[in-house]
Amino acid sequence: MNFNQFNLDSRLNTGIRQADYQTPTPIQAQAIPIALNGRDLIGTAQTGTGKTAAFVLPILHKLLTGPSKQTRALIITPTRELAEQIHQTITSLGKGTNIRSVTVFGGVGAAAQIEALHNGVEIIVACPGRLLDHIQNKYARLGKLEILVLDEADRMLDMGFLPDIKRILKHIPKQRQTMLFSATFPQEIEQLAAQTLHNPERVAIGLVRPAHTVTHTLYPVPHHLKRELLLKLLTQTDTDSVLIFTRTKHRAQRLAKQIARSGYNVTSLHGNRTQNQRTSALKGFKQGKTQIMVATDIAARGLDIDSISHVINYDMPDTADAYIHRIGRTGRAKRTGEAFTLTTPDDDDMVRKIERIMEQLLPRQTLPDFDYNVPKPEYPQNGRKSKSRDNQKSTSRPKHRAR
Ligand code: AMP
Repeated sequence: MNFNQFNLDSRLNTGIRQADYQTPTPIQAQAIPIALNGRDLIGTAQTGTGKTAAFVLPILHKLLTGPSKQTRALIITPTRELAEQIHQTITSLGKGTNIRSVTVFGGVGAAAQIEALHNGVEIIVACPGRLLDHIQNKYARLGKLEILVLDEADRMLDMGFLPDIKRILKHIPKQRQTMLFSATFPQEIEQLAAQTLHNPERVAIGLVRPAHTVTHTLYPVPHHLKRELLLKLLTQTDTDSVLIFTRTKHRAQRLAKQIARSGYNVTSLHGNRTQNQRTSALKGFKQGKTQIMVATDIAARGLDIDSISHVINYDMPDTADAYIHRIGRTGRAKRTGEAFTLTTPDDDDMVRKIERIMEQLLPRQTLPDFDYNVPKPEYPQNGRKSKSRDNQKSTSRPKHRAR
């Protein structure tokens, strides 16, 4: 099976060849023919399955005939990093074409986006908030839109983007092709699909795909010894690039500092950093200049970095699904990877859920030369009083769920 079977416009061959795609992935094999037929599509697939090319190739094929310099396709995605990644896939697969795409997201200046929109682009890859601004200011004109992609719909729901998406939909022609991708289908997403798609075909790729190339290990540890255990693990393990997940952006920031103090080259990726900081953190990590990155789920969602050998869940994810997403960052492109999860007794329920979804019991590991019996200090190691609700100033509490 190869890409010729799709009868894609021959101008796409250069990009496919340069990307070194030999065989379509399962989601591509299923979705591309449906999309090329102009049908609406619901794809159950997470990042790492090749889903980006599954919608980008049919879009490029379609845009190669018909008018240029007007926005004919819109891809809406939850995070800036994902928007950038999709834009890069469009650029590389569209190498042999003149099709232009622009990314539209907040946290960076609007001028370059406005200029690109003014000059005329065929594809917009956007996060919802900034796109709405550009629509309201009439910089983005979607009246001629032919194809809409809602990518990572469940994550957009989690991030509170649904109202924005509904507002955007009012500016888009009803007569269009719509593709919706989501890893899970809570009721709100089913409703959105029912309202926005017309007689869609469904394609599904199982959630547990990365498991085949990833080894999972749980490291039970008392809560107060997590950091020491992590540092021990880092010294004992032969790693390439390491991605560490924390539950909140504050914890990501703090842990990165603590790891740096132990002499590692470390960066962090979370919503409290500026877009410039996020971009340069990611760049250094991708290029291997920074060995360790500490991130939150949302910031690291869908990142496509080949060299990640280890994903470490410093904090347990909120859902089993988030676990799958996190470990999907390693073991990519047929490489092998390892997923370490630090678990405290509070995490028992979640461990059971993950084991159920993975259909396997995950091995528990203890480090022979680690003292698990060190008592909990009265005050945390940094000397400050423990943050009980009483002594925490109300101004220092996160205003919304910290990510
Ligand atoms: P995605 O799920 O879209 O983030 O893609 C995950 C990774 O798989 C990206 O690095 C893609 O470049 C790569 N990829 C996508 N399709 C193929 C293919 N048919 N053959 C090999 N690699 C692919």
